[in-house]
Amino acid sequence: MANEQDLILIIYKNLKRIVSVEWKTRPGPDGLHLYDRATGTNILFDEVECPEDSWALAPRQVSIALTNSCNLCCPFCYAPKEPAELDYQCLLGWLDELDANGCLGVGFGGGEPLMFKKLPTLCEYINESTSLAVTFTTNAHMLTSSLVDALKGKVAYLRVSMDGIGATYEGLRGKSFASLSRQFELVKAISPFGINYVVNAQTFPELDGAISLASELGATEFLLLPEQPVRGRSGIDEDAVAGLQKWVNSYAGPIRLSVSEAGAEGLPVCNPLVHEKGLRSYAHIDATGRVKRSSFDSEGAKIDAGGVMRALNKLQQLTEDSREDLA
Ligand code: SF4
Repeated sequence: MANEQDLILIIYKNLKRIVSVEWKTRPGPDGLHLYDRATGTNILFDEVECPEDSWALAPRQVSIALTNSCNLCCPFCYAPKEPAELDYQCLLGWLDELDANGCLGVGFGGGEPLMFKKLPTLCEYINESTSLAVTFTTNAHMLTSSLVDALKGKVAYLRVSMDGIGATYEGLRGKSFASLSRQFELVKAISPFGINYVVNAQTFPELDGAISLASELGATEFLLLPEQPVRGRSGIDEDAVAGLQKWVNSYAGPIRLSVSEAGAEGLPVCNPLVHEKGLRSYAHIDATGRVKRSSFDSEGAKIDAGGVMRALNKLQQLTEDSREDLA
Protein backbone atom coordinates (compact mmCIF):
# COMPACT_ATOMS: atom_id res chain seq x y z
CA MET A 1 0.00 0.00 0.00
CA ALA A 2 1.35 3.44 -0.94
CA ASN A 3 2.24 5.82 1.91
CA GLU A 4 1.40 9.54 1.83
CA GLN A 5 4.68 10.46 0.12
CA ASP A 6 4.17 7.80 -2.58
CA LEU A 7 0.66 9.12 -3.20
CA ILE A 8 1.93 12.70 -3.57
CA LEU A 9 4.52 11.47 -6.07
CA ILE A 10 1.88 9.54 -8.04
CA ILE A 11 -0.42 12.59 -8.13
CA TYR A 12 2.50 14.86 -9.10
CA LYS A 13 3.54 12.54 -11.95
CA ASN A 14 -0.02 12.35 -13.27
CA LEU A 15 -1.02 15.95 -12.63
CA LYS A 16 -0.75 17.04 -16.24
CA ARG A 17 -2.98 14.17 -17.34
CA ILE A 18 -5.39 14.64 -14.42
CA VAL A 19 -6.01 18.33 -15.12
CA SER A 20 -6.48 17.79 -18.86
CA VAL A 21 -9.30 15.26 -18.31
CA GLU A 22 -12.91 16.41 -18.60
CA TRP A 23 -14.11 14.97 -15.31
CA LYS A 24 -17.76 14.37 -14.65
CA THR A 25 -18.46 15.70 -11.17
CA ARG A 26 -20.98 14.20 -8.79
CA PRO A 27 -21.60 15.87 -5.43
CA GLY A 28 -23.00 13.52 -2.82
CA PRO A 29 -23.13 12.58 0.86
CA ASP A 30 -19.59 11.14 0.75
CA GLY A 31 -17.95 14.19 -0.83
CA LEU A 32 -17.20 15.31 -4.36
CA HIS A 33 -16.84 12.39 -6.77
CA LEU A 34 -14.94 12.90 -10.05
CA TYR A 35 -15.15 10.33 -12.82
CA ASP A 36 -13.34 9.94 -16.15
CA ARG A 37 -15.20 7.54 -18.42
CA ALA A 38 -12.26 7.22 -20.85
CA THR A 39 -10.06 5.51 -18.27
CA GLY A 40 -12.58 4.50 -15.61
CA THR A 41 -10.69 6.60 -13.05
CA ASN A 42 -12.61 7.67 -9.94
CA ILE A 43 -11.42 10.33 -7.48
CA LEU A 44 -13.34 11.03 -4.29
CA PHE A 45 -12.65 14.26 -2.41
CA ASP A 46 -14.14 13.04 0.84
CA GLU A 47 -13.03 16.15 2.72
CA VAL A 48 -15.38 18.26 0.57
CA GLU A 49 -18.75 18.63 2.31
CA CYS A 50 -21.36 19.00 -0.40
CA PRO A 51 -24.62 20.65 0.73
CA GLU A 52 -27.53 18.20 0.53
CA ASP A 53 -29.39 20.30 -2.01
CA SER A 54 -26.42 19.90 -4.41
CA TRP A 55 -26.31 16.08 -4.30
CA ALA A 56 -26.80 14.28 -7.61
CA LEU A 57 -30.40 13.10 -7.90
CA ALA A 58 -29.91 10.15 -10.27
CA PRO A 59 -28.42 6.84 -9.13
CA ARG A 60 -24.65 6.61 -9.59
CA GLN A 61 -25.04 3.54 -11.82
CA VAL A 62 -28.09 2.19 -13.66
CA SER A 63 -28.38 -1.25 -15.23
CA ILE A 64 -30.80 -1.50 -18.15
CA ALA A 65 -32.25 -4.73 -19.55
CA LEU A 66 -32.65 -3.74 -23.20
CA THR A 67 -34.49 -6.93 -24.10
CA ASN A 68 -35.58 -10.17 -22.47
CA SER A 69 -34.54 -12.14 -25.58
CA CYS A 70 -31.46 -14.30 -25.46
CA ASN A 71 -29.67 -16.76 -27.74
CA LEU A 72 -28.96 -19.07 -24.78
CA CYS A 73 -31.06 -20.79 -22.13
CA CYS A 74 -29.01 -20.98 -18.93
CA PRO A 75 -30.64 -22.75 -15.97
CA PHE A 76 -29.73 -20.02 -13.44
CA CYS A 77 -30.91 -17.11 -15.61
CA TYR A 78 -32.88 -14.49 -13.65
CA ALA A 79 -34.01 -12.51 -16.72
CA PRO A 80 -37.82 -12.66 -17.13
CA LYS A 81 -38.86 -14.94 -19.97
CA GLU A 82 -41.87 -13.04 -21.34
CA PRO A 83 -40.94 -11.21 -24.57
CA ALA A 84 -40.19 -7.52 -23.93
CA GLU A 85 -37.90 -4.91 -25.40
CA LEU A 86 -37.34 -1.23 -24.63
CA ASP A 87 -38.37 1.47 -27.10
CA TYR A 88 -35.31 3.15 -28.63
CA GLN A 89 -36.66 6.72 -28.57
CA CYS A 90 -37.85 6.40 -24.96
CA LEU A 91 -34.40 5.10 -24.02
CA LEU A 92 -32.69 8.17 -25.47
CA GLY A 93 -34.87 10.45 -23.33
CA TRP A 94 -34.20 8.43 -20.16
CA LEU A 95 -30.44 8.44 -20.82
CA ASP A 96 -30.43 12.22 -21.28
CA GLU A 97 -32.32 12.62 -18.00
CA LEU A 98 -30.01 10.30 -16.07
CA ASP A 99 -26.96 12.07 -17.48
CA ALA A 100 -28.27 15.54 -16.60
CA ASN A 101 -29.03 14.41 -13.04
CA GLY A 102 -25.53 13.13 -12.28
CA CYS A 103 -25.60 9.42 -13.21
CA LEU A 104 -22.07 8.25 -14.11
CA GLY A 105 -22.73 5.15 -16.14
CA VAL A 106 -25.20 2.66 -17.56
CA GLY A 107 -24.70 -1.08 -17.89
CA PHE A 108 -26.74 -2.86 -20.53
CA GLY A 109 -27.90 -6.40 -19.98
CA GLY A 110 -30.93 -8.47 -20.74
CA GLY A 111 -31.42 -11.04 -21.94
CA GLU A 112 -28.53 -10.68 -24.30
CA PRO A 113 -27.94 -7.02 -25.23
CA LEU A 114 -26.56 -8.03 -28.64
CA MET A 115 -30.13 -9.17 -29.50
CA PHE A 116 -31.11 -5.47 -29.32
CA LYS A 117 -30.62 -4.48 -32.96
CA LYS A 118 -29.92 -0.81 -32.25
CA LEU A 119 -27.22 -1.45 -29.64
CA PRO A 120 -24.39 0.07 -31.75
CA THR A 121 -26.45 3.19 -32.56
CA LEU A 122 -27.41 3.50 -28.90
CA CYS A 123 -23.79 3.28 -27.75
CA GLU A 124 -22.82 5.85 -30.37
CA TYR A 125 -25.53 8.23 -29.14
CA ILE A 126 -24.42 7.89 -25.52
CA ASN A 127 -20.81 8.41 -26.45
CA GLU A 128 -21.44 11.51 -28.52
CA SER A 129 -24.39 13.16 -26.78
CA THR A 130 -23.94 12.35 -23.08
CA SER A 131 -21.13 12.03 -20.54
CA LEU A 132 -22.31 8.58 -19.40
CA ALA A 133 -19.99 5.57 -19.53
CA VAL A 134 -21.42 2.48 -21.27
CA THR A 135 -20.74 -1.08 -20.27
CA PHE A 136 -22.60 -4.21 -21.26
CA THR A 137 -22.75 -7.82 -20.20
CA THR A 138 -22.74 -10.42 -22.93
CA ASN A 139 -22.36 -14.16 -23.45
CA ALA A 140 -20.21 -13.06 -26.45
CA HIS A 141 -21.41 -15.77 -28.82
CA MET A 142 -23.16 -13.29 -31.15
CA LEU A 143 -20.19 -10.96 -31.57
CA THR A 144 -19.01 -10.55 -35.16
CA SER A 145 -16.26 -8.45 -36.75
CA SER A 146 -18.81 -5.98 -38.09
CA LEU A 147 -20.27 -5.53 -34.58
CA VAL A 148 -16.74 -5.00 -33.28
CA ASP A 149 -16.25 -2.21 -35.84
CA ALA A 150 -19.55 -0.63 -34.83
CA LEU A 151 -18.91 -0.80 -31.07
CA LYS A 152 -15.19 -0.09 -30.85
CA GLY A 153 -14.42 3.18 -29.03
CA LYS A 154 -18.02 3.60 -27.85
CA VAL A 155 -18.00 1.17 -24.94
CA ALA A 156 -16.00 1.74 -21.76
CA TYR A 157 -16.02 -1.87 -20.54
CA LEU A 158 -17.40 -5.29 -21.48
CA ARG A 159 -18.42 -8.05 -19.09
CA VAL A 160 -18.32 -11.57 -20.51
CA SER A 161 -20.23 -14.40 -18.85
CA MET A 162 -18.02 -17.45 -18.27
CA ASP A 163 -19.09 -19.85 -15.54
CA GLY A 164 -16.68 -22.70 -15.13
CA ILE A 165 -14.34 -23.87 -17.86
CA GLY A 166 -14.57 -26.63 -20.48
CA ALA A 167 -17.31 -29.18 -19.89
CA THR A 168 -18.78 -27.32 -16.88
CA TYR A 169 -19.31 -24.18 -18.98
CA GLU A 170 -20.75 -26.26 -21.83
CA GLY A 171 -23.16 -28.06 -19.48
CA LEU A 172 -24.47 -24.79 -18.06
CA ARG A 173 -24.47 -22.54 -21.12
CA GLY A 174 -25.10 -25.17 -23.82
CA LYS A 175 -22.34 -23.67 -26.00
CA SER A 176 -18.90 -24.85 -26.98
CA PHE A 177 -16.15 -23.57 -24.70
CA ALA A 178 -13.74 -23.53 -27.63
CA SER A 179 -16.02 -21.15 -29.50
CA LEU A 180 -16.25 -18.87 -26.45
CA SER A 181 -12.45 -18.86 -26.21
CA ARG A 182 -12.23 -17.77 -29.86
CA GLN A 183 -14.72 -14.95 -29.26
CA PHE A 184 -12.34 -13.26 -26.80
CA GLU A 185 -10.29 -12.00 -29.75
CA LEU A 186 -13.37 -9.96 -30.78
CA VAL A 187 -14.12 -8.89 -27.20
CA LYS A 188 -10.58 -7.55 -26.75
CA ALA A 189 -10.90 -5.48 -29.91
CA ILE A 190 -13.86 -3.53 -28.46
CA SER A 191 -12.73 -2.46 -24.99
CA PRO A 192 -11.11 -3.65 -21.76
CA PHE A 193 -13.15 -6.51 -20.34
CA GLY A 194 -13.89 -8.54 -17.25
CA ILE A 195 -15.39 -11.94 -16.53
CA ASN A 196 -18.78 -12.50 -14.86
CA TYR A 197 -18.71 -15.84 -13.05
CA VAL A 198 -21.82 -17.41 -11.52
CA VAL A 199 -20.60 -19.30 -8.45
CA ASN A 200 -22.39 -22.50 -7.41
CA ALA A 201 -21.43 -26.02 -6.35
CA GLN A 202 -20.51 -26.91 -9.95
CA THR A 203 -18.42 -23.85 -10.80
CA PHE A 204 -16.76 -23.16 -7.45
CA PRO A 205 -14.08 -25.91 -7.81
CA GLU A 206 -12.97 -24.36 -11.12
CA LEU A 207 -12.38 -20.85 -9.80
CA ASP A 208 -8.57 -21.06 -9.81
CA GLY A 209 -8.48 -22.41 -13.35
CA ALA A 210 -10.95 -19.78 -14.52
CA ILE A 211 -8.91 -16.97 -12.94
CA SER A 212 -5.71 -18.20 -14.63
CA LEU A 213 -7.47 -18.41 -17.98
CA ALA A 214 -9.09 -14.97 -17.53
CA SER A 215 -5.67 -13.51 -16.75
CA GLU A 216 -4.13 -15.15 -19.86
CA LEU A 217 -6.97 -13.76 -21.96
CA GLY A 218 -6.32 -10.22 -20.66
CA ALA A 219 -9.35 -9.71 -18.37
CA THR A 220 -8.92 -6.91 -15.82
CA GLU A 221 -11.67 -7.86 -13.37
CA PHE A 222 -13.32 -11.06 -12.17
CA LEU A 223 -16.87 -10.54 -10.89
CA LEU A 224 -18.18 -13.26 -8.57
CA LEU A 225 -21.93 -13.79 -8.81
CA PRO A 226 -23.01 -16.25 -6.09
CA GLU A 227 -26.04 -17.94 -7.70
CA GLN A 228 -29.37 -16.52 -6.48
CA PRO A 229 -32.53 -18.62 -6.09
CA VAL A 230 -34.72 -18.26 -9.20
CA ARG A 231 -37.37 -20.35 -10.95
CA GLY A 232 -37.21 -23.38 -8.68
CA ARG A 233 -33.41 -23.43 -8.33
CA SER A 234 -32.18 -22.97 -4.79
CA GLY A 235 -29.10 -20.87 -5.56
CA ILE A 236 -25.59 -21.40 -4.21
CA ASP A 237 -25.51 -23.99 -1.39
CA GLU A 238 -24.01 -23.56 2.08
CA ASP A 239 -20.86 -25.58 1.34
CA ALA A 240 -20.07 -23.52 -1.74
CA VAL A 241 -20.71 -20.29 0.23
CA ALA A 242 -18.29 -21.41 2.96
CA GLY A 243 -15.73 -22.51 0.35
CA LEU A 244 -16.07 -19.21 -1.49
CA GLN A 245 -15.52 -17.17 1.69
CA LYS A 246 -12.36 -19.13 2.44
CA TRP A 247 -11.16 -18.84 -1.16
CA VAL A 248 -11.72 -15.08 -1.30
CA ASN A 249 -9.99 -14.52 2.04
CA SER A 250 -6.83 -16.24 0.81
CA TYR A 251 -6.99 -14.89 -2.75
CA ALA A 252 -3.70 -13.51 -4.08
CA GLY A 253 -4.39 -13.93 -7.80
CA PRO A 254 -3.50 -11.72 -10.71
CA ILE A 255 -6.89 -10.07 -11.37
CA ARG A 256 -8.99 -7.66 -9.31
CA LEU A 257 -11.96 -9.44 -7.70
CA SER A 258 -15.40 -7.96 -7.22
CA VAL A 259 -18.68 -9.41 -6.00
CA SER A 260 -22.35 -8.74 -6.75
CA GLU A 261 -24.23 -6.93 -3.97
CA ALA A 262 -26.78 -9.75 -3.87
CA GLY A 263 -24.13 -12.30 -2.88
CA ALA A 264 -21.66 -10.18 -0.93
CA GLU A 265 -22.69 -11.17 2.59
CA GLY A 266 -19.76 -12.62 4.53
CA LEU A 267 -17.19 -11.51 1.94
CA PRO A 268 -14.67 -8.68 2.47
CA VAL A 269 -15.73 -5.68 0.39
CA CYS A 270 -14.45 -2.13 0.13
CA ASN A 271 -17.04 0.58 -0.47
CA PRO A 272 -15.67 4.12 -0.39
CA LEU A 273 -19.15 5.63 -0.89
CA VAL A 274 -20.76 4.29 2.26
CA HIS A 275 -23.40 7.02 2.57
CA GLU A 276 -24.60 6.79 -1.01
CA LYS A 277 -27.12 4.02 -0.44
CA GLY A 278 -30.18 2.53 -2.14
CA LEU A 279 -31.47 4.41 -5.17
CA ARG A 280 -28.75 7.06 -4.80
CA SER A 281 -26.26 4.37 -5.62
CA TYR A 282 -27.98 1.99 -8.05
CA ALA A 283 -31.22 1.27 -9.93
CA HIS A 284 -32.33 -1.23 -12.55
CA ILE A 285 -34.65 -0.66 -15.51
CA ASP A 286 -36.24 -3.85 -16.81
CA ALA A 287 -37.17 -4.58 -20.41
CA THR A 288 -40.80 -3.55 -19.81
CA GLY A 289 -39.69 -0.06 -18.70
CA ARG A 290 -40.08 -0.44 -14.93
CA VAL A 291 -37.49 1.02 -12.62
CA LYS A 292 -36.53 -1.26 -9.71
CA ARG A 293 -34.13 -1.34 -6.79
CA SER A 294 -32.46 -4.45 -8.25
CA SER A 295 -32.89 -6.83 -11.15
CA PHE A 296 -34.15 -9.48 -8.71
CA ASP A 297 -37.03 -7.29 -7.45
CA SER A 298 -40.52 -8.09 -8.68
CA GLU A 299 -41.87 -4.65 -7.67
CA GLY A 300 -41.00 -1.41 -9.39
CA ALA A 301 -42.37 1.85 -10.81
CA LYS A 302 -43.41 2.13 -14.46
CA ILE A 303 -41.61 4.88 -16.37
CA ASP A 304 -44.39 6.89 -17.99
CA ALA A 305 -44.39 10.10 -20.04
CA GLY A 306 -43.11 11.93 -16.91
CA GLY A 307 -39.73 10.29 -17.43
CA VAL A 308 -37.27 8.19 -15.49
CA MET A 309 -36.54 10.68 -12.67
CA ARG A 310 -40.23 10.88 -11.82
CA ALA A 311 -40.43 7.06 -11.75
CA LEU A 312 -37.39 6.94 -9.45
CA ASN A 313 -39.07 9.43 -7.08
CA LYS A 314 -42.21 7.31 -7.14
CA LEU A 315 -40.22 4.17 -6.34
CA GLN A 316 -38.47 5.97 -3.47
CA GLN A 317 -41.85 7.06 -2.12
CA LEU A 318 -43.25 3.52 -2.41
CA THR A 319 -40.27 2.17 -0.48
CA GLU A 320 -40.65 4.78 2.28
CA ASP A 321 -44.40 4.08 2.52
CA SER A 322 -43.86 0.33 2.85
CA ARG A 323 -41.20 0.94 5.56
CA GLU A 324 -43.71 3.08 7.46
CA ASP A 325 -46.35 0.34 7.11
CA LEU A 326 -43.92 -2.16 8.63
CA ALA A 327 -42.95 0.18 11.51
S1 SF4 B 1 -26.83 -15.77 -21.43
FE1 SF4 B 1 -27.47 -14.52 -19.69
S2 SF4 B 1 -29.47 -13.70 -20.26
FE2 SF4 B 1 -29.03 -15.39 -21.67
S3 SF4 B 1 -30.04 -17.15 -20.72
FE3 SF4 B 1 -27.89 -17.13 -20.05
S4 SF4 B 1 -27.93 -16.02 -18.09
FE4 SF4 B 1 -29.86 -15.56 -19.16
